[in-house]
Amino acid sequence: MFSKVLYIDLSKGDSELVDRADLFEKYIGGTGVATLLLEEECPKNVDPLSEEAPIILSIGPLSALFPCCTKVVAMFKSPLTNELGESHAGGRLALAMRFAGYDSIVIKGRADDPVYLSIHDDEVKIKDATSLWGISSALAVGRILREIEPGVGRRSIIRIGVAGERLIKYANVNVDTYRHFGRLGLGAVFGSKNLKAMVISGSKGVSVQNMDAYKEVYQKIYDEVVHTEAMEKYHDLGTSANVNVLNQIKGLPTKNFKSSYFENAENISGENFADKYLLRKLACPHCPIGCIHVAMLKTPFAPGHDYEVHYISYDYELIYALGSNLGVTSPEGVLSLIDRCEKHGLNAISTGVVLAWATEAYENDLITPQETLGIGLRWNDVEGYLSAMDNMVKMPNEFYKVLAQGVEKAAERYGGKEFAMALAGNEVAGYHTGPANIVGQIVGIRHSHLDNAGYSIDQKASTKQLSEEEMVDLLVKEDDWRCLCNSLICCLFARSVYDEQMVKDALGSLGIEKTVDELKGIGKEIFRAKYRFKHREGFKIEDVHIPKRFFETTSQLGKISEVQVQKMLDLYTRKRGS
Ligand code: SF4
Repeated sequence: MFSKVLYIDLSKGDSELVDRADLFEKYIGGTGVATLLLEEECPKNVDPLSEEAPIILSIGPLSALFPCCTKVVAMFKSPLTNELGESHAGGRLALAMRFAGYDSIVIKGRADDPVYLSIHDDEVKIKDATSLWGISSALAVGRILREIEPGVGRRSIIRIGVAGERLIKYANVNVDTYRHFGRLGLGAVFGSKNLKAMVISGSKGVSVQNMDAYKEVYQKIYDEVVHTEAMEKYHDLGTSANVNVLNQIKGLPTKNFKSSYFENAENISGENFADKYLLRKLACPHCPIGCIHVAMLKTPFAPGHDYEVHYISYDYELIYALGSNLGVTSPEGVLSLIDRCEKHGLNAISTGVVLAWATEAYENDLITPQETLGIGLRWNDVEGYLSAMDNMVKMPNEFYKVLAQGVEKAAERYGGKEFAMALAGNEVAGYHTGPANIVGQIVGIRHSHLDNAGYSIDQKASTKQLSEEEMVDLLVKEDDWRCLCNSLICCLFARSVYDEQMVKDALGSLGIEKTVDELKGIGKEIFRAKYRFKHREGFKIEDVHIPKRFFETTSQLGKISEVQVQKMLDLYTRKRGS
């Protein structure tokens, strides 16, 4: 039923549609199918920024058909970690792919000159993007493509900024202005292919095998989403509600994790943003929640002129990375930094962690004004950070070239390895909750808090004693189930709605009959397939360096024991058999 893969070769300038029912029958869709395609298309040990490295985009069977099934997964070899790259984005992309009739898109090769992809139903064109290359704002590129490409209403526009063009290893891909393939450097992979953007729209329908069953399951899901508390938080303050919550439990990373409590948290809290800056809430299509919080920021346009207005989406991770972790106390400051990331096409978490390391390295004289080109990197100095971000993209000297490689590389070159807050090469998310958070990000497929939510296991452990083994079991269970959810592919904010029975019923209504045990087995299989790729590219859990800072700063659960973390890693490795 869903099995169409569009292969595009930028080197040859052609494309082909292939039925790959074999892959979809085995691994459902989304990340499952994308993993198999990556294994097929990505040569072993390839340079992630070479012509041979592919980009895979995949949706799943529930995409566009059920509420909150809005995500697209991108799979690639990450230039940041040099192993599996997996990133998810909402926005209109899943809807556009479904209505254009593509379940996966594989992009290979490299164009000689800048291009963008223009895909409207069956028409696939590779168009000249010379005039878009070098435009200083990724947001402006979207505005131009909106004017010149058809498909309004069922169209998605994804594009990179200058950071992607210049191969910065944590460059992102902007999706429909307010969503992103944020992590692990997909923007640089686009840039390496001379691929500036992709516009896709579709006007086809989707047939449903058993309409009565579909309607029944649909109503159940809709009622759970809208009429229960399952997703209330996301509609109200959104994830930025976490700022005050994490601060109160001493889990909010502050000034490069020197502290887990920020005395100015209230100022940059979700509550304060909502009171004073929130302009509107948006939703990915076919989501009744609308968790995308957009703030308005007015800044002076230029001396002698009045204001310009910026519309900036914010959430918890951005406020942590560019707020508390840089000691930034003002909401305007945080919004300005987020806006600059959007303009350049930089991932905000990585950028904030790199700047936090640089600030501490500057404090400790590991780097000097000569390296920073006179920019005094100091906590809460928003202007300094904005200038440094511009230089991270322009790369005018060796220091900024190294910053563009990520925080681990920066610490290798200048020192400060024990406060370079990355795990397995990926700059860490905004939690200092306890051991499960650290272990979860190390063992997780994409080294993200979203792989297995270790932070929430720590929160459970704060109210109920959990042994190391129990915590590891919870991580394994969550890893596997999320592999299944990400193959459907639903928004993880709706994960409590899409429980085992609901997933079984939803798939059944589309004619995909699986038992709950079979679904769990597929989740495990997908996890194993992803690790197969990671191992193939050289990843080993035992090679991961854990910065000492994690063990120095009091967390929600008190001081974290290095011995306990090591014990959990050993247990995890034994359970997984690798
Ligand atoms: S909850 Fe938010 S991210 Fe998830 S589908 Fe809805 S609007 Fe998109």
